[in-house]
Amino acid sequence: MAALEMLSAKLPVADGGTEWSRVSEGKWMRRLIPELREWIDKEHGEINYFLAQFITGHGCFTHYLNQFEIRETDGCWYCRRRDDAEHTFFECDKWREQRMRVEKELERAITPDNVIRIMLDNDKNWGLVEGWIVGVIKRKERDERAG
Ligand SMILES: [Zn+2]
Repeated sequence: MAALEMLSAKLPVADGGTEWSRVSEGKWMRRLIPELREWIDKEHGEINYFLAQFITGHGCFTHYLNQFEIRETDGCWYCRRRDDAEHTFFECDKWREQRMRVEKELERAITPDNVIRIMLDNDKNWGLVEGWIVGVIKRKERDERAG
């Protein structure tokens, strides 16, 4: 499974999983997953292609694509601000409605600092958050193809 391999290549689990700083986009991942052991030991939830994009910040985000000159700027396609995983999921007005919908179902606000903890709480939460992430990335990828 390509997404899993992609993610595990970026997870420094071999050294005990305490060292995030060597990882590119490590700051984002460290913020999402401060307790790596808890993440590794999780009993539910699979990482798919979409979740891997969210967690690594490597994916359909202009700032990331721009590093490979796939895009000419790192500005968001919708609002022109710098676009990375945090921008897309937590800042951009374009996707605010989707986030508010999942927050309503979860009955709490989600932030980069609590979203993984919420997912790990139970299977239902995992599914809700995953659905949100998949939905946003699919629409973004569709918009990108449409140009
Ligand atoms: Zn934006």
